[in-house]
Amino acid sequence: MTFTEFNLRNELAKAIETAGFKEPSPIQEQAIPIVLAGKDVVGQAQTGTGKTAAFGLPILNKLELDGSVEAVVIVPTRELANQVSDEIFRFGKFLGITTAAVYGGSSYSRQLKHIEKASVVVATPGRFLDLLRGGKIDIAPKYVVLDEADEMLDMGFLDDIKEIFTFMPSDRQTLLFSATMPQAIKDLAKRILIDPEFITITKNEMANANITQSFYVVEEYERDEALIRLLDFKNPSKAIIFCRMKVEVDRITTMLVSQGYAAKGLHGDMEQRQREETIRAFKRNLEILVATDVAARGLDVNDVSHVFNYHLPFDSESYVHRIGRTGRAGKEGLAVSIVTPAEFRGLLKIQKAVGSKLTAKEIPSVHEVKGKKNNELLEKIEKADVSETVIELVDKLKEEYDLSTIAYKLATLLEDELKIAGNEKIGKNMSEISKIESRAKNDRGGDRGRRSRGGYRGGNRSRNSSSSRNGGDRGGRNSSSSRNGGGDRNRRR
Ligand code: ADP
Ligand code: MG
Repeated sequence: MTFTEFNLRNELAKAIETAGFKEPSPIQEQAIPIVLAGKDVVGQAQTGTGKTAAFGLPILNKLELDGSVEAVVIVPTRELANQVSDEIFRFGKFLGITTAAVYGGSSYSRQLKHIEKASVVVATPGRFLDLLRGGKIDIAPKYVVLDEADEMLDMGFLDDIKEIFTFMPSDRQTLLFSATMPQAIKDLAKRILIDPEFITITKNEMANANITQSFYVVEEYERDEALIRLLDFKNPSKAIIFCRMKVEVDRITTMLVSQGYAAKGLHGDMEQRQREETIRAFKRNLEILVATDVAARGLDVNDVSHVFNYHLPFDSESYVHRIGRTGRAGKEGLAVSIVTPAEFRGLLKIQKAVGSKLTAKEIPSVHEVKGKKNNELLEKIEKADVSETVIELVDKLKEEYDLSTIAYKLATLLEDELKIAGNEKIGKNMSEISKIESRAKNDRGGDRGRRSRGGYRGGNRSRNSSSSRNGGDRGGRNSSSSRNGGGDRNRRR
């Protein structure tokens, strides 16, 4: 299938060609004809599947170009407002349209001026509602799009969105796009869409064959060391490290930077300017982005080589979502998850959802990483182009030393590249992993029982017959260092 089959305006066909799009993605193939036909649509597809063009192209095709704001797209974050506005402008530029990105933290008067000139407004819910409530804008868009609806739900925008729709004309066409479809989004869709078509791009269609997925099993206290070792071994050109919490993002970023890695953190508590700067750096040349799911949602970076899950996400949809950031645009991607024995049941759930492609691996030892680095260094030396100045330099050295001494000295200067931090062995080997796996598979009832008594860190103590009583005594709330586990405390008794 090609874009020409949609019979879009010439100006759009030209923009599609300029953008280098060869064929429509699955969500585009399904959504574009339905939107063109004027129907409301609920579209579910993972990040990076081309949802912006799926609604942007058919809407642009239908614009009357009457000088009014004809379409409004509501997105969760300022970054996305800019990104989606840019993308729609790129498609619409041969039609001579302008777009306006509208969000909090920037001046009202300037935004109002931009809105006045725009055919398409891309806005975050809070600021948009402000403008509507204050009667600052009087618009009647024919097309209203909710983009990344689940994210807006997570960010607490549901009520704002409902109120926004009280200001929208009732004879509009409404489109809702979301990566996941929780009940609250389905309910919202029922409320604001009329007889919508549902389009779901299933996981199998999305499951990216280009992504190699592995997991490594470590004790909680080994997590940082494991991350560093894996970074050293895999040597990513561009990696996202996913964390569960903002404080974790900050801590890991600081740790990585202090050890010489080029890393920056991204989360919701940062100033907008700082976030934009980080995203720009990551698109350009920053090696490592440490981020929460929310902050990284919808970001459009095509050449991510590795995704690391510092912690497993809570559900398989988020997992699929996270790893979908790599292996894009026909490139190979690697997804690496660090898992503790206590998280193993979560891992099994995810494995069930994504299939057998997610497999266990052992963390390479210092020796193995060194071997790999040695080889890389040898290759680098082999490939190096020798310049005139260097020949002069070596000739000078030759007056004093023999050639092997010179070579040893030069290689010593390079040794920094061969230094590997941490213990020789980190994490579990294959036979330990399979034991942990069968325990996690067989031990379900018992685990639930222990949990209800409050021993939430009970996994490791499960072999201890008195564990559940002890767990109760401790109330399970003892959050002191997990490094020593329960064993230490038991010994003290
Ligand atoms: P989503 O909103 O689903 O996360 P985007 O609309 O941001 O995805 O698209 C992701 C990337 O893929 C963007 O860089 C976009 O330009 C590109 N893209 C979208 N559709 C196509 C296509 N049909 N062919 C090639 N690239 C595409
Ligand atoms: Mg999007």
